[in-house]
Amino acid sequence: MPPPLTRAPEAASADPAPPRLFADAMLGALARWLRALDLDVAYDPALDDPELVEVAVAEGRTILTRDRRLVLRRKARNHLLIRSDEVDEQVREVLAALAVRIDPARLFRRCLVCNHPLEPFPAELARERVPPFVARTQSEFRHCPACDRLYWRATHVERMRRRLEEILATGTEL
Ligand SMILES: [Zn+2]
Repeated sequence: MPPPLTRAPEAASADPAPPRLFADAMLGALARWLRALDLDVAYDPALDDPELVEVAVAEGRTILTRDRRLVLRRKARNHLLIRSDEVDEQVREVLAALAVRIDPARLFRRCLVCNHPLEPFPAELARERVPPFVARTQSEFRHCPACDRLYWRATHVERMRRRLEEILATGTEL
């Protein structure tokens, strides 16, 4: 058994459910990277601060923000103030602070754009919709039922995967 990639919460049995998060308007990149790790991260830059707090509270989401004024809002108690302005470090901050356990086998299971879980998609149907090179070289596709995007192992996904593996491997000590 490989060692766990992130530290377990103090009381491991207290709350095994993965956290639900809400990234504020400044943290769009962080939202995408956390989604790639299969975390449920809402993000809507059209909302102003009071609206964001309302939705986060209503949906039971922890607010991720770098804005100290936002976390002073009375209702925004459930928040994590992100310190770094560098996305790799921000990912580490979130994993460490929330003691999230990431399964490296479950990367890219969620739409990076709209946060919806992806579903397997038949290759013969996907091949009608993708560039010819992709159709020739890829056999595994996933589909977002919410926004209709198709995902496959493109080079940018592989780069992202390697960087995520580095982030996970370098630990989450703060
Ligand atoms: Zn989508």
